[in-house]
Amino acid sequence: MIYIGCHLSVTNGYEAMGRTMVDFGGNTFAWFTRNPRGGKAKDIDGDDVQKLQQILDEKKFGKLVAHASYTMNLCSAKPETRANALDMLKQDLQRMEQVPNQFYNFHPGSHTGQGTETGIKQIADGLNEALWPDMQTTVLLETMAGKGSEVGKTFEELREIIDRTTLNDKLGVCLDTCHIWDGGYDIVNDFDGVLTKFDKIIGLDRLKAIHFNDSKNECGAAKDRHEKLGQGFIGMEAMKRIALHPALQKLPFILETPNDDAGYMEEIKIVNSWM
Ligand code: FE
Ligand code: FE
Ligand code: ZN
Repeated sequence: MIYIGCHLSVTNGYEAMGRTMVDFGGNTFAWFTRNPRGGKAKDIDGDDVQKLQQILDEKKFGKLVAHASYTMNLCSAKPETRANALDMLKQDLQRMEQVPNQFYNFHPGSHTGQGTETGIKQIADGLNEALWPDMQTTVLLETMAGKGSEVGKTFEELREIIDRTTLNDKLGVCLDTCHIWDGGYDIVNDFDGVLTKFDKIIGLDRLKAIHFNDSKNECGAAKDRHEKLGQGFIGMEAMKRIALHPALQKLPFILETPNDDAGYMEEIKIVNSWM
């Protein structure tokens, strides 16, 4: 089996997210560590997290997948944007220690004209400043669609970030099905081949989470526009094959589909019906 859940709002706290996901029929979830467009993060209430922990234990949740702000760009051409991103990353990782042993996922960054190689180097530099030996969180690099100057659109680019990061035992990868499809990996006709490539270049042991999205565009479109399960170019049959793939069992699958609560509940129900 896989763990299934969706993005939730942290507005009402941590326990509330756990309860909501139980109501939705899921057993993992994602949330933004701060406003996705940036801004200051709220303080974490230890009691609240404790109550969430009880729900996670009792309901046997999989790992949670926190998501960094979209504005956090470790490889912007602007030094102040980079400095700001590093601050955010450091603060987020400190805060994650209060929600221990979970995943923290981030978009590697957009090089904004500096070139992919420089981008990769700056991302690794940032990670080298932010990670520390006894941290409890595993930091996930998200596979990107290659929109604009995004870094992380190929498995090779992610590999290079990992190789340049000293404490790379703290690093994993979150595979976004919409992103890699848009990035040109044909997960409809050859998901096995894509996973074999992933294994050769990055290593399947690094694959820690799935962003489970259909796509509004064709393979290779480099667009990054998510679609509801079964309503896009990936399609329900392929989504089901991915969820049932033996190499992905036990991983948290996070829906980031364009849905309201009822839509997420329905998709969680569909995925659960496959298992
Ligand atoms: Fe993302
Ligand atoms: Fe994603
Ligand atoms: Zn996306």
